[in-house]
Amino acid sequence: MSPVLSLVVPVYNEERNIAAFLAATTKELEAIAEPYEFVFVDDGSTDGSLGLLIAASATDAHVKVISFARNFGKETALTAGLAHATGDAVIPIDCDLQHPPELIAQMVAEWRKGADMVLAVRSTRREESWPRRSASGLYYRILRWLTSVDIPAHAGDFRLISRKVVDVLNQMPERHRFMKGIYAWPGFKTATIEFQAAERNGGGGSKWSFFKLWRFALDGIFSFSTVPLKIWTYVGLLCATGSFIYALVTVIQVLWFGVDVPGYASLLALLLFFNGLSIISNGIQGEYLARIFDEVKGRPLYVVGGRWGFGDHAAARGGKRLEISDATKKTDAA
Ligand code: UDP
Ligand code: MG
Repeated sequence: MSPVLSLVVPVYNEERNIAAFLAATTKELEAIAEPYEFVFVDDGSTDGSLGLLIAASATDAHVKVISFARNFGKETALTAGLAHATGDAVIPIDCDLQHPPELIAQMVAEWRKGADMVLAVRSTRREESWPRRSASGLYYRILRWLTSVDIPAHAGDFRLISRKVVDVLNQMPERHRFMKGIYAWPGFKTATIEFQAAERNGGGGSKWSFFKLWRFALDGIFSFSTVPLKIWTYVGLLCATGSFIYALVTVIQVLWFGVDVPGYASLLALLLFFNGLSIISNGIQGEYLARIFDEVKGRPLYVVGGRWGFGDHAAARGGKRLEISDATKKTDAA
């Protein structure tokens, strides 16, 4: 029987959580009584995660595993999971039990009522520090202001996505995958349920460093807005107008009032300031240029089957499991 619900689970070094996660979610899914599948995407884990997943798939026919050849990042893992999920409704969910599986039933209920996207929104983010919380709030305000896509704050990857939307998402080929924006882009009817994010199970803390978060935030802006690129026309116009007026004032001061032109210090400050501005504007152009470069290279988003995994998309849709091909084995040895 083809699955109605697909759980897409990115996994990166989660050997401490996999058993608990499977037990908790299986209980909920059995209670919902719809055919279901797990699509685990092992994102190049270096611990025993992949072994545990393969063992689970051997005993539980609901479990499918995609294995990446290396760590490609959670966003890419989710993309692969969405492409391989076969359910009528797909639910991306974290493996560390921070996304309460009890919500799945509620999500399915909203979906049955006609929503194409059911967001699980964190009502409070007490588990995060105050600076991180307020920075994130400010960030989403800026992002909404800069883009035409309505990207909801506090909604993460935990959500239900109907097949209609998943099919649209699977057609979005961009390499820089800002999932929150990508999820929001197709539109459709959205419902929201609230939840309290749990503590991370199995300890270990979040795998997001500050720099990773910073890149993530920039990715969101640069992938969904061209305002940073275009704003420099106006900054330039403003500066040019300002300096023209300033030049006029100086000429009048010298010719009419005989004032000496003052200012080594002010000259230097202005010089450095405007140099700084033009370097920033170059940097921002560079961000877009780098993105264009990444896109035109046209590389695949991820490599499947490093050690074990689905051979291809078609096999995945049939739910068939493939051992790694000889070609992959050779690449591994090299
Ligand atoms: N994850 C992944 N690849 C990565 C980092 C994380 O697949 O490079 C997975 C991880 O195993 C977990 C989910 O993404 O299932 C969320 O990761 P984490 O708990 O570190 O992030 P946070 O909860 O802070 O968003
Ligand atoms: Mg987590």
